[in-house]
Amino acid sequence: MKRRVVFVSKCMLNTNVMIPTITTPKKYPGNVTEPIVLILNNKVGIEQMECPEKIILGWPRSKTNKTELSKNQEFVKECERIADEVIKKIKDYLKNDVEVSFILGKRGSPSCGFLETHKEINGEVKLVKGSGVFIDILREGMKKEGIDIPIIDFEHEDVDSCLGEIKKKLTNDY
Ligand code: SF4
Repeated sequence: MKRRVVFVSKCMLNTNVMIPTITTPKKYPGNVTEPIVLILNNKVGIEQMECPEKIILGWPRSKTNKTELSKNQEFVKECERIADEVIKKIKDYLKNDVEVSFILGKRGSPSCGFLETHKEINGEVKLVKGSGVFIDILREGMKKEGIDIPIIDFEHEDVDSCLGEIKKKLTNDY
């Protein structure tokens, strides 16, 4: 069996770092159990990526959006630092024959969303297609290094399809 690892946003393993008033931490106290259990049952290691919002905006914090975060230079720099660290770890794993199966973000997050994020449009915050600030920076960094690893994101209203994506990515590894 191949040695495998995945990278997950910090709140996948610890929903306590999220804004307490949003749905996911209420629905999933502690962690987002199903995807994590699925990964563990497949004998895959888990690397937790740091939470840029908790580091820069603190906890508890107010809701934010991609437009606001993109203008916050301290936040952008922190995302770059975390992304560099993640890329370094990915390179080390690949060099040592450990497969990095995927990266799991949090859909809708202005930082870690992949398929959807929250942005200001005409002064209103809306859920739109596209990734968050951290995932944008991470993707750009991976592209520069020639690293091609799938990114998926967890959505509490779309758990079955998220689990399906994870199963597909883990099965493709063989
Ligand atoms: S910034 Fe990322 S890790 Fe932090 S709570 Fe939001 S989605 Fe989770």
